[in-house]
Amino acid sequence: MNDIEFYREFIRRIGDDPARPGLRRTPERIKESYAFLTSGHHIDLETELGSAVFEEEYDEMVLVKNIDFFSLCEHHLLPFFGRVHVAYLPQGRVIGLSKIPRVVDAFSRRLQLQERMTAQIARCLMDHLNPLGVGVVCEAMHLCMAMRGVQKVSSFTTTSAMEGRFKSDARTRQEFLHLISMPEVRGA
Ligand SMILES: [Zn+2]
Repeated sequence: MNDIEFYREFIRRIGDDPARPGLRRTPERIKESYAFLTSGHHIDLETELGSAVFEEEYDEMVLVKNIDFFSLCEHHLLPFFGRVHVAYLPQGRVIGLSKIPRVVDAFSRRLQLQERMTAQIARCLMDHLNPLGVGVVCEAMHLCMAMRGVQKVSSFTTTSAMEGRFKSDARTRQEFLHLISMPEVRGA
């Protein structure tokens, strides 16, 4: 059975008719959607991050706030989505800022758990940057909770992963949590 036949059969099994006009191209679309939504495994972080790490004597916290992400819960294959805030304390090396959202893409575009994704983002930056510490906070809504199960539509789940100074030093952690709670500064 090829992919298209498989998704046609899937539609049949959930009780609909894959031959009706509205569903005729749906198997192709499902295939393409899932290929994109699980493409995180194919993002080559070694190459992408390797070319974007620079020696720099900046030693204050670097924070990228409000990185949107979309993922799929591995228990129901339903979306969970929200925002990730990532901070690190450099130790002689900084990374191109656009690479941090790429790390989020790599770990969110796969079958995931929010807790694991949060920890993987932090661990990845620790491994590639060797910073003094990394802090990651993730706020997400889970459609498996909102649309089914307990049907809680407006509940958010927050997870965090603190490494190095963010774990050992309460002031660093407080500064991070304070900065992510502040409204963003917008130019003009
Ligand atoms: Zn779920």
